[in-house]
Amino acid sequence: MPFAQHYQETLEELARVCASCGRDPREVKVIAVSKTVDAPAISAAIAAGAHDFGENRPDVLAAKVAQLPEQTWHFIGNVQSRKIPEIVACASFVHSVCKEEHFAKFDQAAERLGKVQDILLEVNVSGEESKSGFTPDEAIAALQLAETFPHIAVRGLMTMAPQGNLDVARECFEGLAALRDALRSQLPSEQAARFNELSMGMSEDWREAVCAGATMVRIGRALFSDSFESVQA
Ligand SMILES: *Cc1c(COP(=O)(O)O)cnc(C)c1O
Repeated sequence: MPFAQHYQETLEELARVCASCGRDPREVKVIAVSKTVDAPAISAAIAAGAHDFGENRPDVLAAKVAQLPEQTWHFIGNVQSRKIPEIVACASFVHSVCKEEHFAKFDQAAERLGKVQDILLEVNVSGEESKSGFTPDEAIAALQLAETFPHIAVRGLMTMAPQGNLDVARECFEGLAALRDALRSQLPSEQAARFNELSMGMSEDWREAVCAGATMVRIGRALFSDSFESVQA
């Protein structure tokens, strides 16, 4: 099945899921995670209507942005300090900021390019050892520190749920939404107004994430893979 069909079905399902939990599908951005496909496949996705793409390697991101600069690119991978200038040059959103020592580097890189970099703080809600991210308890201090840098704007939070159990995933997403609300209530109003994004949900668990309040879902295999079988199918 080609991307166009997967994408159309996903948008239709998004509308149904939103209707079932009282949300407006226009509040949810579908990010097509294109990390496993090449530029021609992304061009086909663009022709099918996709415009937001997610990548997890700075060098690959840069190469794809060079070929397809008109799209909105999201960096969702592990951030390495020395790659920050390259990431800032390419990404509209960086979803995976999880170290305080990176804030100054993002700020400097953005200042040099004359931009304000939109970032999300990655939070390890589930507490799994293998996952990166701030702990929920660390998030407020990290957010307050980030807000001291004029060339980064913290737009919200991102998480990855444990795989394999949708009830556990739902709890994780609800936890991130509650944390976003708690943090927002502690921000000055100007910063609170822009601190509203929740990047959560992937091919397996985006439906749970949407009902928990996701504003961005990051979907890879379910859009780009011929062989992906939803656990709910
Ligand atoms: C690869 C990736 C995704 C997409 O995962 P799928 O299961 O293929 O939908 C989402 N978020 C992050 C951070 C990823 O690395």
